[in-house]
Amino acid sequence: MAESSAASVVRVAVDAPQHSGLTGPLDYASEQALAHGTLVRVPLGRREMVGVVWPGDAGPAPEMALRPVAAVFGSIPPLGADWCRLLDFAAGYYQRSVGELASAVLPPQLRELSPEQLAARLRKLQKKPAKAVVPEPARPPLAPEQAVAVERIAAQIVGGAPKPLLLFGVTGSGKTEVYLRAAEAALAAGRQVLVLVPEINLTPQLEARFTERFAALLPEPLAIVSLHSALTPAQRLQNWLAAHLGRARLVLGTRLAVFASLPELGLIVVDEEHDPSYKQQDGARYSARDLAIWRAHDLKVPVVLGSATPSLESWQHAESGRYERLTLATRIGGGALPRVRLFDMKALPPTAGVTTALTAPLLAALKERLDRGEQSLVFLNRRGYAPVLHCGECQWKSDCPHCSAWRVFHKRDRTLRCHHCGFTERVPRACPNCGNHDIAPIGRGTERLEEQLAEALPGARVLRIDADSTRRKGELEAQLKAVHDGEVDILVGTQMITKGHDFRRIRFVAAVNPDGALFSSDFRAPERLFALLMQAGGRAGRDASGDSPSEMWVQTWHRDHALYQALARHDYVRFARDQLEERRSASLPPFSHLALLRAEARTPEAAKAFLAAAAELAQDEGVLVYPPVPHAVARVADVERMQMLVEATQRARLQSFLREWVPALIALKREHKPVLRWAVDVDPLAI
Ligand code: ADP
Ligand code: ZN
Ligand code: ZN
Repeated sequence: MAESSAASVVRVAVDAPQHSGLTGPLDYASEQALAHGTLVRVPLGRREMVGVVWPGDAGPAPEMALRPVAAVFGSIPPLGADWCRLLDFAAGYYQRSVGELASAVLPPQLRELSPEQLAARLRKLQKKPAKAVVPEPARPPLAPEQAVAVERIAAQIVGGAPKPLLLFGVTGSGKTEVYLRAAEAALAAGRQVLVLVPEINLTPQLEARFTERFAALLPEPLAIVSLHSALTPAQRLQNWLAAHLGRARLVLGTRLAVFASLPELGLIVVDEEHDPSYKQQDGARYSARDLAIWRAHDLKVPVVLGSATPSLESWQHAESGRYERLTLATRIGGGALPRVRLFDMKALPPTAGVTTALTAPLLAALKERLDRGEQSLVFLNRRGYAPVLHCGECQWKSDCPHCSAWRVFHKRDRTLRCHHCGFTERVPRACPNCGNHDIAPIGRGTERLEEQLAEALPGARVLRIDADSTRRKGELEAQLKAVHDGEVDILVGTQMITKGHDFRRIRFVAAVNPDGALFSSDFRAPERLFALLMQAGGRAGRDASGDSPSEMWVQTWHRDHALYQALARHDYVRFARDQLEERRSASLPPFSHLALLRAEARTPEAAKAFLAAAAELAQDEGVLVYPPVPHAVARVADVERMQMLVEATQRARLQSFLREWVPALIALKREHKPVLRWAVDVDPLAI
C-alpha cells in the first residue's frame, strides 16, 4: 500500500530547470491527501507541468503560502513505490533531478492532457476489441544447452533472483528461443515481462516473433505492446497505460522502456546487452542495461543479458562470479559460423592512385557468389558518397564552416552535408577557393561503394541500406523485404544492416575497410569493432541448407592484429581475456569507474576555464581528475566542446564525489557566463 502524504502539503517531483538549483521534489498545497506516485499537474513559474507526488515526508508547513496542486489525474492508479525507487536511484546515480528524469521518461502526451482527457483515453482503452482467436503455435523442442538456460531462468522466476544471468551465445544459437521460453514461464507465474532491444528497427521483427508465440496465450487486446520513440504520442501513451494498468503482459521496447511502469514485473530480458544504443546520449545519460540490472535486483526478479559478444563489464562480472553465465555454444540446426578470411591488403600489387576498397579478389569472390545465385552483404561504416571533396590545385577540402569536420559528398542529390550540424550546400561546380574545375572525391562511403559495385558487376542487383536510404517511413521495411524475398544480390550498407536481422539467404559478408577503429583514441573502439564484425559475420550462413560454405571477408592492413586473429577463430573468449588484461594494466573500466564533465562554449578558452575551475573544486584523494581536452570533434555548429575525465577505483567513491561536486558545479556555472551548456556523463561510453 502506498502511504498517503499528509493533507495540506505534498512533495511533487517536477521538472525544474537545473540552473534554478531546485533539485529535489517541491512542496505544494493540496486539499486532499494524495497517495505517493499520484500523477498531478502543478504550477512552476508561469507554466503548468506534470509531476508525481513523491515518497518521503513533506517538510513542516512553511511560513509563506504554498501554491496549490492544479489538477489530479485520479483516473489511473498511482505509480508504484518500486517505480519511484527506480527513478530516485537513476536520478541520483546519473546526477539529474528526479523531476527532470520523471518528466523525460513519462509519455510526452501526458503533458498535454487534462485529467478529464486522460480519463477519456482510459475508457477508449477499455473498449479495445478482442483479437481473433488463433491456434497455439508449435514450439520447437529445446536443444540441451537451451533447456539448461531456460531451467536456470525459470528457477529464478519462482525462487528469487540472486544474480543477473549472462546468456552468452553465438548468433543463431537460439537465444531468442530462450527468451520466449523464459517469458512463457514468467507469464505462467502471472508476471509481466519486459524485453529490451537496442534498435527501433529491430522491434517489429521481435514483436512479430513474440506475437506469433503468445497470441493464443494472450488474446486480450494490448496484452503485447511495444514502447519506443517511433510510436505516435497517442500510441505511446496507450501502450504505457496498458503496461501501467497491468493489461500489457509483455512489453518490448528500446532503452526508454526500462522506465515503464510495470506493477507485476517478473522478468527482464536485455537482448544484445553490449550494444552502445542502450546508453542515452543526452539529458540524463542513463544506461538502460545497467538500470535493468538495478531494477531486477531491487525487485528480486531475474534479468537475462543476452549477447554473442558481451560487454567487457558484463564478461568480467561473469568471470568473477557476480553474474551467472549460461552458454549456448552451437548454432541451431548445425549451421557453421562463416569461415573468416583475413585478406591482407599488403599482398596486393602496388598500383598508384587506384582506390583499393573493391579489390580484384573481393570482386572475384562476389562474382562467384553471384553466379551461384547467392546473396552477399558488403559492409562499410561510412555513409554518403565520399567523406570529403578535394581540390588538387590549391588543396581545398570540403570542410564545414561551423564544425571541425569535413562535409560529406552525397552524389545522388549533389550536396555537401555536414553529418554533425546538418549544414548542407549544393556541390560547387568549381573549387570555391581557386576556381579549379577539377575537384574530386577522396575516400569512399556506401553510396560510392554501391555505384562501384554496380559498375564492376553488371547485372547484379545491388541495394544500399543506410540512414540516407531509409529516411522516409516504410522504406526500411520495404528494403528489408526485398532482401528477404531474394530480390537483391548484393546488399551494401552501414552497421545498420549488421544488427539482428535474420537474413536467411546471405552466404558472404565483406567488411571492406574496418581498420580505422584499431587505432582510435577511444579505449572501447576495439570492443565495438569486434562486436560489430562478429555481428556482421553472423548475418552469413544462418540457413544451414545452402551447400556452399559461408564466408566472412575482412580486408585489412593489419592481419596479424590480435583482434582479427581472435575474430578469425570466432574466439570472443580469447578476445575478452586479452582486452581485460589490457584494461586491468591501464586501470580502465571495468577496473576503474569514470565520469566525464563536458562543457560547451563559443570559445575553447571559455569551456576550458570552466573545466579548470571545476577541477579546482575537486577535493578527494580517491578521485583522479584529468586535464581538460577537446572533444574528438571539437567544434559543432560553432560551439566548442571540451571534456574532462574523472576516475575512481571504486564506484561508490566516484558516486560520493559526484554528489558533492555536481551541486558545486551548478553554483560555479553562474560565474562562467560564456559557458553555454555543461553536463556530467557517468559511465560514459564514448571517450
Ligand atoms: P539467436 O537469437 O541466438 O541469434 P535465434 O533464437 O534467432 O538465435 O535462433 C536461430 C534460429 O533457430 C531461428 O530461426 C529459430 O527459430 C531457430 N531455433 C531456435 N531454437 C530452436 C530449437 N530449439 N529448435 C529448432 N529451431 C530453433
Ligand atoms: Zn582549389
Ligand atoms: Zn557542421
